[in-house]
Amino acid sequence: MRYAVVGDPVSHSLSPTMHMAGFRSLGIDATYGLIETPVDRFASIVSKLRNGSLDGVNVTMPHKHNAFMAADVVGASVARLAAANTIVSIDGELRGYNTDIDGVQHALSTIALAPDAPVHVLGAGGAAGAAILASDGARPLSIASRTPERASNLLERLRVDATVYPWEAGPEGAIIVNATPIGMHEEHLPFGIVESSIGLIDMAYGDATTPSVQKAVKIGVPYADGIVMLAGQAAKAFEIFTGIIVPVEVLERAARGRSPFDTTFS
Ligand code: NAP
Repeated sequence: MRYAVVGDPVSHSLSPTMHMAGFRSLGIDATYGLIETPVDRFASIVSKLRNGSLDGVNVTMPHKHNAFMAADVVGASVARLAAANTIVSIDGELRGYNTDIDGVQHALSTIALAPDAPVHVLGAGGAAGAAILASDGARPLSIASRTPERASNLLERLRVDATVYPWEAGPEGAIIVNATPIGMHEEHLPFGIVESSIGLIDMAYGDATTPSVQKAVKIGVPYADGIVMLAGQAAKAFEIFTGIIVPVEVLERAARGRSPFDTTFS
């Protein structure tokens, strides 16, 4: 079986490391590579999926909408988001999924707060949409975006009710979900936002621990960093590809640079 992550740029992606660790830990004979693909070349990936040269792909920027458009079959959440990050080819039929939603749900489960604790989403792009759908119907929701009309447009497109806050403001006592790149290069979220939260899911990750996660550690706010979410979305994609559940810890350890062969869990 042949899988790949497709994006532009994509060389930094941890997906091959995670998926190969999963295959090896479970003794699955499969390969997983990187395919750097400019936006106007996505059709070549679709052809490879249809002709069987690829069995499935994970899709990152800038292809998530194109992946949704290319899929023959999608679920309701993918249709609402109009974005897919995983495509699997079953006898040439392309099925599209958005496992970022599963990644957020995994991250929420690791911080283990009340299942109805409110969620406040920062950002209004695709990742914010996934965070909203991960919580919709279960938790009170609010959102803040640097460009406020993008937040309102996102809620309208998703047909979700949520309070829209100004970018620098937010509710007290919510789980903050950072769905912006802020923190990748050690930038700070708006002042006081982590302090007034009860939990943090930081989708951003980089070479260093993000300032928001550092703050959460310092003041004792439960948190999940970007690698927790990354491993959660990859574990769901792995299950979609293979039909086999991989322990998410295998993928998380691989992403954090520990031995992909180490399958001993604590
Ligand atoms: P996107 O569609 O481009 O949306 C980015 C959002 O971030 C927009 O709302 C944008 O606001 C906002 N933003 C960007 N820079 C900002 C800044 N300096 N200050 C305030 N807001 C800013 O991207 P996406 O696909 O949603 O992804 C968002 C982030 O999540 C990326 O960094 C991505 O790597 C990360 N992510 C992580 C995972 C994971 O598994 N850990 C999964 C998915 C995404 P404007 O509209 O005003 O530009």
